[in-house]
Amino acid sequence: MITLHDVFEQGSDTVKAAVLAFGTRHPVAPGGLVTEPDWKQAEKHFTLVIETIMGSATPPPPGSTDGAVHQAENAAIGFLLAANARSDYRCPICVKRQRPPL
Ligand SMILES: [Zn+2]
Repeated sequence: MITLHDVFEQGSDTVKAAVLAFGTRHPVAPGGLVTEPDWKQAEKHFTLVIETIMGSATPPPPGSTDGAVHQAENAAIGFLLAANARSDYRCPICVKRQRPPL
């Protein structure tokens, strides 16, 4: 499965910006002054986004699993791009886990 890092490496400038924005939604010290992204956390949540998309998709016909993964990856990148258009969005995985407000 594709990683956030792969997406960044292979993506256009717009995609790169969206990846960075997703990373900054995962600060190392929430609420603190440290603004360095927690990429480990961001990677994990990006994978969960892909898995969520795959889980909600129609089951692929036998033998075409790769295609389904690829589709989910593209959908996840599409999500990053769409979410990046909003400056105040939160990572859906973080929201789901209902962390206390920062
Ligand atoms: Zn998150």
